[in-house]
Amino acid sequence: MKTKFKISSRLNRIFLSLAVFILIISTMDAQTDDFTCATTDSADPDPMGVYSGGVDFTSLNPCDPIVLNIYFWGINRPNGQNDFPNRANDVLRGVANLNILYNEFGIYFKYRGFEEIDSPTLPNDSNGYYVLEGVIDYFNMVTWATNEGFRKPDAFNVYLFGWAGFGGGIAPNLSGSTHCGVNSGGISKVTLVHEIAHNLTVKHTRSSTEHATRDINDPNFNADTAGDAVVDTAANSGFRDNSCACYPFVDLTTCSYIGFEEDNVGEFYQIFPIDVNNAMGDAYPCSQIHLTTGQGIRAREALIADVQGNFDPTLTTIASLYEPYAGEYFVSGPEPNPYNPPLFQPGFNYRFLECECNCPEPSPYEDVSFSYTNNSLLTISKNNTSFSSITHPNHTAIQIDLDLCEPYGQNTRRCYDNWNKAADSGTVTKFEDNVLIIM
Ligand SMILES: [Zn+2]
Repeated sequence: MKTKFKISSRLNRIFLSLAVFILIISTMDAQTDDFTCATTDSADPDPMGVYSGGVDFTSLNPCDPIVLNIYFWGINRPNGQNDFPNRANDVLRGVANLNILYNEFGIYFKYRGFEEIDSPTLPNDSNGYYVLEGVIDYFNMVTWATNEGFRKPDAFNVYLFGWAGFGGGIAPNLSGSTHCGVNSGGISKVTLVHEIAHNLTVKHTRSSTEHATRDINDPNFNADTAGDAVVDTAANSGFRDNSCACYPFVDLTTCSYIGFEEDNVGEFYQIFPIDVNNAMGDAYPCSQIHLTTGQGIRAREALIADVQGNFDPTLTTIASLYEPYAGEYFVSGPEPNPYNPPLFQPGFNYRFLECECNCPEPSPYEDVSFSYTNNSLLTISKNNTSFSSITHPNHTAIQIDLDLCEPYGQNTRRCYDNWNKAADSGTVTKFEDNVLIIM
């Protein structure tokens, strides 16, 4: 009896510790990784003549690129403490995700940088600094950041807060905003591409008024104007039940819709896993980095129309994608020690092709007079996560896998053919693992 008691008491203690451990883990998850979005969709009708409602990929003309500057701000505690040691690396992953997703719609993001900034002390706030308890805290934070100069007027500004009571992300619901907030634990996940989609006027797919029918001849057809006004996203009244923060009609293991719900004219919703997975759906545990063609067309049409005039200052050129975001080129003289080679943003397929010209500094983007071969000395996939390897080897030009129309033309640019190093030191160059090493 005594022994039994001992065992059960010990078991109890084990169970209790386990429960506390699970609670801690799940609380940590809730703070860092849970993705729910606090953006409210604008109920205003779309402006006339901006959106075609089209879903035809060939209408996109994605070879006519729109390139947007993007800048990131990581919010620290007031004493400078950063609770997210991988944040700078995660930002690069986020930039890659944005490009991998949006490039197919002819939208490109030029990474302009990442800065850590300290939250002010907020004596009247329950945490004393910028943990975002409510939506208003986000807007107060942006006002503070803008006043402090932590806002680039010529870029999309992404504020990476630590935690928020409302979940993982938020963007203004205006048509054409250029800032958003993303929790630091979600920057490399779907949260960033979701909030940027809001900036580009893409709404959540949930709607209480959109009808199930996709038949344009059906009198109940309203998919082109109701809800997200995108025809190739299935109508749904929302997957998330906010009262229980649960998903009563979604099998979260398969991300399949298992409900028999009707729209407000009594027709069953037609919802497939790809609709549950959509980046703008609210089955958040299932959300993937995926948008439909219709959503991409809407984003691109918003950029082209630029109704509020907010997008225009954020535009940059294709040439900027051929510029490093960090590091510098070796030109002549003693090699700096340590040497910070030029680094290029991830998210593109690069080939660094053998080239020849009299160009100890890389030739300007506009100058295509150099000669080059199809021999790649360094090949980088858009999915590459070894970010320090994306550099520009000597004696190569940069080829980015862009489908460019005239007048952009050639996508191999900027020959870097520098013989100074070899001449200065008498050393040789060699190849190692397909990477040109300057000895
Ligand atoms: Zn959202």
